[in-house]
Amino acid sequence: MKIFEALANTPERREIRDHIRAICDAFDDAYWAEKDKTHSFPHEFAAAIAAGGWNGIAMPEAYGGAGLGVTEAAIMMQEIGRSAGVFAACSTVHINIFGLHAIVKHGTKQQQQDWLPEIISGAKRACFGVTEPDAGLDTSRIRTTATRNGDHYLIKGQKIWTSTAQQADKVVLLARTAPLEACAKPTDGLSLFYADLDRACAEIREIPKMGRHAVNSNQVFYDNMVVPAHCLIGEEGKGFRYILDSLNPERILNAAEAIGIGRRALEKAVAYANERVVFNRKIGQNQSIQHPLAEAWSELYAAELMTLHAAELYDAGEPCGPQANAAKLLAADAAFKACDRAIRTHGGMGYAAEYHVERYFREMVAIQLAPVSREMILCHIAERELGLPKSY
Ligand SMILES: Cc1cc2nc3c(=O)[nH]c(=O)nc-3n(C[C@H](O)[C@H](O)[C@H](O)COP(=O)(O)OP(=O)(O)OC[C@H]3O[C@@H](n4cnc5c(N)ncnc54)[C@H](O)[C@@H]3O)c2cc1C
Repeated sequence: MKIFEALANTPERREIRDHIRAICDAFDDAYWAEKDKTHSFPHEFAAAIAAGGWNGIAMPEAYGGAGLGVTEAAIMMQEIGRSAGVFAACSTVHINIFGLHAIVKHGTKQQQQDWLPEIISGAKRACFGVTEPDAGLDTSRIRTTATRNGDHYLIKGQKIWTSTAQQADKVVLLARTAPLEACAKPTDGLSLFYADLDRACAEIREIPKMGRHAVNSNQVFYDNMVVPAHCLIGEEGKGFRYILDSLNPERILNAAEAIGIGRRALEKAVAYANERVVFNRKIGQNQSIQHPLAEAWSELYAAELMTLHAAELYDAGEPCGPQANAAKLLAADAAFKACDRAIRTHGGMGYAAEYHVERYFREMVAIQLAPVSREMILCHIAERELGLPKSY
């Protein structure tokens, strides 16, 4: 099938795509279906990505990274999304690419030197602890505290949905260092840490969920976990701003991942439509099968262009909030429709694990919900772009 890839329109970009595709091709649907079934973390895949140095695609060359932009990282994540591992494969590497963005941007030279090379090489893995059960999307209401005690902080509280915490050595953690009541704005008084995830003081409980079983998400209960003061990123009380800095790249990467997943589902659907014969004709000869697939192609392509636009704006240092949000919205919707259509094109077999499209669908749903929901994206665009009153 001919699918034009707008993002791969330079030799360098094509090279990234080709390298990533070659790595991903070694991990087929059978590999990922088994990981999903047994809820096993894809260590082999994570190691293969790290071995190629790809964790460092957007990290400084001085620490072993490639020093490229979010555009190149998006190309890579789109290709990973298009692999048999779909969202599980993306989630295996995602946090190690974007999660340390705050360290790249606001960390000291010493912190970068201490922390980035081990993530790039795959020697260490990081997870991201922001979401809390009682705060939800309103991050300013998080209750986990970091209390300064001499040369260290004590972390106390509960996080939810911390993905890959079962395997992670480190955690990027947002916690309150000043009480909400004492702050001029609710977003003040939050601080960002990069800490050892010390199991003696952090209890990790896996959350049973709908899909992406190869990559766990967890509740994490912190009971006075000791974090040395030098693990504070940037200035105390400015953690929310640092998180905001990484939101646009994260949305862009999520959008790229969704497009990749949608493309894979579409390719599977087209292959099946071209081979399955019912009523003495290929089912793909019916317009009711063809048209939704053609629509999916168009919507994925449009979302890809939006994602590329947002990524290029970001890399050029231009504001890109509405574009990054719109890219995530359009890509998640397009991928959702493509996965849904892939199941329907397969008829009953779309519901069977054997054809894998049900796994793609189960995994894809998460991109509609996290890290930012459809509703909040629309709230943001309505307020910031259209000038409507803030609604949240
Ligand atoms: C698979 C998965 C992996 C994740 N991994 C991580 C991770 O590694 N680290 C991490 O920190 N978090 C992670 N998350 C958490 C994720 O970022 C949150 O689930 C997401 O931010 C939504 O928060 P919530 O679930 O608390 O929803 P809520 O805030 O409870 O919202 C529930 C619903 O209400 C809507 N809503 C709420 N307020 C408004 C409003 N004012 N206007 C309109 N609609 C509104 C929302 O859009 C949503 O539909 C993960 C989540 C999932 C599902």
